[in-house]
Amino acid sequence: MSYQCPVCGYGELTRPPENFSICPCCGTEFGNDDFDRKPSELRDEWIEKDMPWFSRSTLKPRNWNSYRQLIIADFGADLVDHPRMDNDVNYRYEVNKAFSEVRIAKQLKALREREQEPLTQSQLATKADMKQSRISELEGMNYSGWSINTLERLAKALGVAFKYSFVRWSDLTFDIKRGLSDQTLAFPSFEREPVRQIVGFFEGNREQAFYSALQAGRSNTVSILQGAIAAPPPRSLTKEMNSYGTIINSPSPRRHSRVA
Ligand SMILES: [Zn+2]
Repeated sequence: MSYQCPVCGYGELTRPPENFSICPCCGTEFGNDDFDRKPSELRDEWIEKDMPWFSRSTLKPRNWNSYRQLIIADFGADLVDHPRMDNDVNYRYEVNKAFSEVRIAKQLKALREREQEPLTQSQLATKADMKQSRISELEGMNYSGWSINTLERLAKALGVAFKYSFVRWSDLTFDIKRGLSDQTLAFPSFEREPVRQIVGFFEGNREQAFYSALQAGRSNTVSILQGAIAAPPPRSLTKEMNSYGTIINSPSPRRHSRVA
């Protein structure tokens, strides 16, 4: 049984974070340091100190990275809201790199486990001509050596597109604050992209196109069709769309994880 530190997100505490136990990662003494300060305040202080590993007796995990740990624990918003984001250029790029690494690892797993077309790690490995252990390592969120070649092979195996692009900092921070839910990361492969329903819609068979998309559980088709509607749909459809919208837009219970 292991516990997570509410300050730094370290997930391998051997005792619950209370009764004067100490986090080996950030050094918080629970019941003392957090007696009159909130975990978020202690986290800001740890970030200010450049997130050093505290313990001399407990060694850092292999490939340990404080930025990735905070992002995995869903504290990414605290990283981008910290004043260091404005004042420290190296910090800013470390946040960028750690978020990109965690995001691509989570996205790989979310795409592999898509409800409509799931693959095991071995099946994906075969399609991408890799070993299963390699897929496991890439999905582990602690991998740091991504190559374009690997990403292109995985994209082809998953049937999705892959683009290189530079982005604005405001777009990156928006993504970090939104968090990494499977809903924002997974989408259908080329073969299952919703071309037919959309064609049907524009050919005038609105109602059938909607029902078909709803029945297939294709959230992206439904949003495309919703966006394309000039006139409001019939009443029966409005009701069903609303209930569907609630499902695809319901906020995740985790902090900072909201579908925009
Ligand atoms: Zn800690």
